[in-house]
Amino acid sequence: MTYAHSEAGPGPPDAHLPGTTSGGAPPPAAAWQDRGMAEQRWDTEAERAPAELEQVWSAVVATARRTVTDGLVVGTSGNVSARVADLVLVTPSGVPYDRLTPDDLTCVDLTGRQVRGTLVPTSELPMHLAVYRTTDARAIVHTHAVHATAVSTLVPELPPIHYMTGALGGPVRVAPYATYGTDELAENMLRALTDRSGCLLQNHGTITYGATLDQAYDRTAQLEWMCRLWLTAAGVPGLTPSLLTQAQLTQAAERLRGYGQRK
Ligand code: 13P
Ligand code: ZN
Repeated sequence: MTYAHSEAGPGPPDAHLPGTTSGGAPPPAAAWQDRGMAEQRWDTEAERAPAELEQVWSAVVATARRTVTDGLVVGTSGNVSARVADLVLVTPSGVPYDRLTPDDLTCVDLTGRQVRGTLVPTSELPMHLAVYRTTDARAIVHTHAVHATAVSTLVPELPPIHYMTGALGGPVRVAPYATYGTDELAENMLRALTDRSGCLLQNHGTITYGATLDQAYDRTAQLEWMCRLWLTAAGVPGLTPSLLTQAQLTQAAERLRGYGQRK
């Protein structure tokens, strides 16, 4: 695990909101209906570096499987993606991760048009594309991790009781509830992500991004751990957990940028 990446920091999302349609990308069939020049362009982009796409796909699948084996995801809840140039590899909707093979590579462009694969991309494409369009993210992990989801039903922001809050850019906000897979959810998420690399989704789960799949995954694991910590401390009858100040969080965040081994 490294926090060296946090130097780059989460790029503050700008005001641009996702332009995808409600419910996610057009279905794969629609993307292939209007063949011709457009298909040429997609094929060229998708086939520019097939070996790299295949390598990144196997890392996306490995990360998705890890969310299940580490207990952050049950069944087919959650999704994972990674960006390669202007393409995004995403887990398909509703397919158990242990069944995914190299042939299942699912790839869309930044507008949500499918450029590789036949499986329907994740229903949360609007959230993934909104993050890639507005930040320097290269990878995204979304889960329904149990402690984080519990916290999302209780407070509008995770109370900052641990210095690792700094690893996500500051106190983690909860994006107001909206139906899964909608542009509304993506818009609420983008606002909650301002100057942060992760947020909670009310009554739903977590989303984090990073410069690598490992970093996005680690941020989800840390977020789930911080939520579990707060629930544990806040659950002690008659006592209230002490909060860190903004100055303490800023100091910790600065120090975390140099945490770990020098490269
Ligand atoms: P998908 O299986 O479509 O990725 O959906 C899972 C999910 O978490 C929706 O919020
Ligand atoms: Zn979800």
